Amino acid sequence: MSYDENNIFAKILRGEIPCDKVYEDEHALAFRDIAPQTPTHVLVVPKGPYVSSDDFAEKASDAEIAGFVRAVGKVARDLGLVAPGYRILANHGADAHQEVPHFHIHIFGGKDLGRMIKPADK
Ligand code: 5GP
Repeated sequence: MSYDENNIFAKILRGEIPCDKVYEDEHALAFRDIAPQTPTHVLVVPKGPYVSSDDFAEKASDAEIAGFVRAVGKVARDLGLVAPGYRILANHGADAHQEVPHFHIHIFGGKDLGRMIKPADK
């Protein structure tokens, strides 16, 4: 799948659409999800044009990967989520219902999140 320069997160990165920014550095931008599913729900996106976690893992440079992972950790820390706990998640492709074709990590927190997958979902 080739990268769509008009996806919503590309527009946010270019400043064409506003976001509720919580962090930005050379490698990553973090902003609050427009439809939060937990009291804290933040998205962290790399600045480069990567469609998904698979695309990012295959093509991003070591510096981009390291910078991005450090940014995810810093955002969760700065949001005060380390002590209570949090969940990070990335959807890739159709079975995971990825909606936006620019790689992003969800950070969920602010409540007991329950178990990741219910036994009945196996
Ligand atoms: P996905 O299903 O691709 O992993 O998640 C996409 C996420 O992006 C969803 O949680 C959705 O609410 C969020 N989202 C979609 N459009 C926008 C937007 O314009 N701004 C923000 N902040 N979040 C968005």
